[in-house]
Amino acid sequence: MRLRTVAALSALLSTAPAAQAPDLRTRAEITNYEETSTYADITRVIDGLVATSPLVHTESFGKTEEGRDLPLMVIADPKVTTPEAARKLGRPIVYVQANIHSGEVEGKEAVLMLARRLVSGDLRPLTRQLVILIAPDYNADGNEKVDVQNRSAQYGPVAGVGTRENSKGLDLNRDYMKLDSAEARALVGLYNRWDPHVAVDLHTTNGSYHGYHLTYSPILNPNADARLIEFTRERMLAPITEAMLKGHNWRAYYYGNFSRETGRPAGARVDPANPGDVTWRTFDHRPRFGNNYAGLRNRIAILSEAYSYVDFKRRVEVTEDFVEEIWRSVVANGKQIMTLTAQADRVFTAPPTAKPVELGVDIEFRAGPTPVPILVGDVTKVVNPRSGREMLAMTDMAQPVLMPEVGTFAATRSRPMPRGWLIPAASANGRLAGAIERLRWHGIQFREVSAALPVPVERFSIADYTRAPKPFQNRYEARLKGDYDQAQLTVPAGSLFIPANQPLARLAFYLLEPDSDDGLVTWNVIEEGLAAGQTYPIYRVLDAARLK
Ligand SMILES: [Zn+2]
Repeated sequence: MRLRTVAALSALLSTAPAAQAPDLRTRAEITNYEETSTYADITRVIDGLVATSPLVHTESFGKTEEGRDLPLMVIADPKVTTPEAARKLGRPIVYVQANIHSGEVEGKEAVLMLARRLVSGDLRPLTRQLVILIAPDYNADGNEKVDVQNRSAQYGPVAGVGTRENSKGLDLNRDYMKLDSAEARALVGLYNRWDPHVAVDLHTTNGSYHGYHLTYSPILNPNADARLIEFTRERMLAPITEAMLKGHNWRAYYYGNFSRETGRPAGARVDPANPGDVTWRTFDHRPRFGNNYAGLRNRIAILSEAYSYVDFKRRVEVTEDFVEEIWRSVVANGKQIMTLTAQADRVFTAPPTAKPVELGVDIEFRAGPTPVPILVGDVTKVVNPRSGREMLAMTDMAQPVLMPEVGTFAATRSRPMPRGWLIPAASANGRLAGAIERLRWHGIQFREVSAALPVPVERFSIADYTRAPKPFQNRYEARLKGDYDQAQLTVPAGSLFIPANQPLARLAFYLLEPDSDDGLVTWNVIEEGLAAGQTYPIYRVLDAARLK
């Protein structure tokens, strides 16, 4: 009897410390992958990591529309708590973001598990070579709205996932330029502060029935520095794809969907024996999407899309492996990544060359020179026991079919970067106040002109202004047509000059040019007075000397 009591007591004592140690498991792990982590689970894991590791700094990078703090982990050895300290280490800074679409949940689970491996597991050596930023729950409000009806065809988690949109109904992956959401404004604040060299954005795709476990995309906008795009494709994504197959047995390739030569969707399923004029087509070049936005900021970006019809546990695994391989690639290419991004920053800050750099205003899809083998797959139906609804599961089929790949974009109409843009004082304080506010949020520099001066400018005469009849993301997408001519403009003191000799010149160009396909006109931020016969209220400066 006494012996038994002692044994029981000692068992209790030996388990006591373990019971007090923080539980660093994700909700997915705790529930055998039936559920996904809530905000409370994420907070528990982050707090546990901070409590048990000297390498983890955590901060809020802003608040959601519903007032939740947006968590950011900064993991490095030695630990860094400020962007200045991170830059002093002289290493690549890599930002990994999950859950921008909070129905696409495996990235959120994967980054928490990766954080554990970084602080106390096999990935620990990476913390001495990189500064790793992890935002596990970007759409934190959407994440709490779990419902089995959200993304119901996705192959788990069976207990449901959050919503695609934020609490205001906005898709955060269309909000990078207009910054209508508190979340997007917080994120560009993070970019301005931490300025990561590489940005990785984790999603799930439920498009065509292909044969890949994960698809990815680099920057697609041709106005980004071409060297960054080529480097990402050739030196990063190509070897990473090989490592995914050889090291982890995953099939990965560039993101796409089956589409007909005409651009018509081909339907999700393609018959490999009779594919017709099918092509493999990527998505969109516009910087409303995060990968393209980061590109306009001269940073490397990789979009990750785990396949919706791979089961949830394996989606977490493939995403985890992909991020690990990206980190390893950044370590292997660290010096070049830092050099290339710094060079991209200097393209417009260096003294102007005789032939100014031109950027596109009309941009179109481009097909590759030769057909490529694309893996055609298929799906089968599985009933979700929680919702009773059908989910789709990837079959073993992965049949290579040669087809054209429409995977890049090129400008069909371009114009040179000006010396800068000028906003007369009256509109700066009036109809363009919202535009100026957005320039500030994006981190674009500008200054006030101190005296009234005549300046040679290009002014845009509006020939046509069209607005979409139906709203998209609570806005009415608009487009201007017209022509520039040269003029002398006398601007009063208090007018604003936005110089092009700054690292964010490409972004400024995209936001400010009147006929941009994703600028401030597109999103009705600049709207008042736009009509045929009128002049666009922002002027291109051809000679900035008089404005100094
Ligand atoms: Zn997504």
